[in-house]
Amino acid sequence: MTTAQLAALDREVLWHPFTQQQGWEDEEPVVVERAQGTTLYDVEGRAYIDGVSSLWCNVHGHGHHAIDAAVRHQLDRVAHTTMLGLTHRPAIELARRLLDVAPDGLARVFYSDNGSTAAEVALKMAFQWWAHAGQPQRTGFVSLRGAYHGDTVGSVSVGGIELFHSIYRPLLFDSWQAEPGDIAHMDALLREHGDRVAAVIVEPLVQGAAGMLVHPEGYLRQVRELCDRHGVFLICDEVATGFGRTGRMFACEHEDVSPDFLCLAKGVTGGYLPLAATLTTERVYEGFLGRFEEFRTFFHGHTYTGNPLACAAALASLDVFEREQTILRLQAKIEVLGTWLARWVEPLETVAEVRRRGFMTGIALADFPLDARMGHQVALAARRRGAIVRPLGDVVVLMPPLSISEAELRRLVEIVAEAIAEATGAAPVCSTSAPPAWRTAA
Ligand SMILES: *Cc1c(COP(=O)(O)O)cnc(C)c1O
Repeated sequence: MTTAQLAALDREVLWHPFTQQQGWEDEEPVVVERAQGTTLYDVEGRAYIDGVSSLWCNVHGHGHHAIDAAVRHQLDRVAHTTMLGLTHRPAIELARRLLDVAPDGLARVFYSDNGSTAAEVALKMAFQWWAHAGQPQRTGFVSLRGAYHGDTVGSVSVGGIELFHSIYRPLLFDSWQAEPGDIAHMDALLREHGDRVAAVIVEPLVQGAAGMLVHPEGYLRQVRELCDRHGVFLICDEVATGFGRTGRMFACEHEDVSPDFLCLAKGVTGGYLPLAATLTTERVYEGFLGRFEEFRTFFHGHTYTGNPLACAAALASLDVFEREQTILRLQAKIEVLGTWLARWVEPLETVAEVRRRGFMTGIALADFPLDARMGHQVALAARRRGAIVRPLGDVVVLMPPLSISEAELRRLVEIVAEAIAEATGAAPVCSTSAPPAWRTAA
């Protein structure tokens, strides 16, 4: 099939996620053919820097030899079996390894296959734990304004992004919404409703989908202390922040916090395959033990839970973290990313704010009319220059693979600065030694 035929068929049969299809059908799609390292190649052989890690997932680059080999090795054994009534080596070994790298106190791993279900599992476990503990009135949750925990109905119930979530209100259970970063407000909510709360759920340090909203230092630690004071669980959703994005393996580490539930997905397999895990404590686990007829079982499980290929990729990814000292080597890149953003992006008159923690970067554009779709225009301009970025409204997100080289990182920031200048009509700050927009594949 030619590129034009593929594009035509896409328009005929597909419906893309989080996409207004009416606009999609008017634009030329990038049809990705293959990828290597931090570069995506389309069917025409055009190359693009993967500026958002293929939606915040990829960690060590595409086509990493060690992860490729691990998946192939597992493929020669079994591609899928089940965790319902059976078990397998990669799931067992990965659980041990995840607990070894996770914050202290977490002792059990429950698998699922995406970030929404990782959050959903934590919510249901917390809720059911209290029912078993003789406090069935603890049915509520406290979440943060602007929170994003996924798209299933339970995870949307604790979501706080008006644009995505308000339409579904009648379908959802209620949760109390705290003002992010405002510990006094969290305190007030827990004082008033604490005895009816099962858990507080937060994205630690950075609320990704809210537009890379960075919490003030110490906030997470204070939330942990309030949860302890009021005897409620703390769920940390590290689906986006986990696996190095903030500069540490997990965002919780920055504030020495151990949650009662830790939700992992996106980066867990190095960005290769769908896998998620909800980690919890022995205390929570024990609350579900009992004779079969007591029905304390956690009645939840997805068909592809703990898929062996995905677990093999995740194990290999953890090996790469160790062998390549990914987190250590990331620190210098975090530094220079800050320098280049300050040099080329922050001075643009159409940039309102650059928010960042580690590699999680949100460039908030100045006010533009909604129908200008300025974030999208910037993404299109960046694409013409050889980088893929996906904005959140008018916040341009940069979140490249941790393995990106300094040269590629610099080029990515330059491209984005140029793209913002072009799309918004700002005077460009950087005069770059730009290589051709399209670097053709070898
Ligand atoms: C992406 C994301 C999710 C949802 O993950 P899916 O795999 O898309 O279901 C949940 N929580 C956070 C913080 C996320 O960024």
